[in-house]
Amino acid sequence: MVDQFSGHCLCGAVQFQCSTEPMFQANCHCDDCRRSGGGVYASFAFVDASVLEVSGETHAHQHLSDAGNTITKHFCPSCGSQVYTENTKAPSRRGVRVGLIEDASWFEPKANVYASHRLPSTPIDPKIKAFDKMPG
Ligand SMILES: [Zn+2]
Ligand SMILES: [Zn+2]
Repeated sequence: MVDQFSGHCLCGAVQFQCSTEPMFQANCHCDDCRRSGGGVYASFAFVDASVLEVSGETHAHQHLSDAGNTITKHFCPSCGSQVYTENTKAPSRRGVRVGLIEDASWFEPKANVYASHRLPSTPIDPKIKAFDKMPG
């Protein structure tokens, strides 16, 4: 585990810093995560908004999740990197995109969500939980 981490977008205009360990780590295989980042799944480190410090301007795109919650995806307007997401279901939580973290060698997903949407070629660890959708 890690007690703090930092990262930046591809061009460096957006930087972030988090002062505690993530409360949860997960991979998401849903279509929205795939489409927003262009990868076959997305990895998140979830932290409380109060411990995440973001500098630099982000733009946001909002959409409804299939559970009916509003998802806000914050991204860098100059390079397009997805930086973090918010979900109205847990308004104080932020899901930081693990791919932007400086040294994310500590990353250890505890669950695969939307595992039912996983591409057949994407390997998943059978030892961690797999949820068909986003767990309640
Ligand atoms: Zn950028
Ligand atoms: Zn997703």
